[in-house]
Amino acid sequence: MSGYDTNNIFARILRGEIPCAKVFEDEFVLAFNDVAPQAPVHVLVIPRGAYVSFADFTLRASSDEVCGFFRAVGLVATQLNLDEPGYRLLSNIGQDAHQQVEHFHVHLFGGRPLGAMLAGS
Ligand code: AMP
Repeated sequence: MSGYDTNNIFARILRGEIPCAKVFEDEFVLAFNDVAPQAPVHVLVIPRGAYVSFADFTLRASSDEVCGFFRAVGLVATQLNLDEPGYRLLSNIGQDAHQQVEHFHVHLFGGRPLGAMLAGS
């Protein structure tokens, strides 16, 4: 995976150049509704820092950023009342996972039974 493209769509959302349907924000993350939802709840949680992938994030981000990110993911799920009956976290990293936006992010799906863990082949 190449370096971070400062013009990727999530970087532009973070800079306020493109609008988003914000769900949550704090000093570490921005969470917003996916523009093409694949479940009744489909939220993207992104770190404010410029990280391409999971490895990039976990290796280069500070402990506060990493901790703040994952705490915020849990908080968003709780605020959306998803702890029961449950939800799914998913992160696509790289080509085989079809990562479309090269700014590390976690998808949060919920609001209906989500079926098998992996779809397609
Ligand atoms: P991924 O394949 O994990 O990189 O997924 C990127 C996600 O970003 C897709 O689910 C897209 O629907 C979503 N997406 C792309 N552009 C926007 C946007 N402007 N606002 C919200 N979600 C977006």
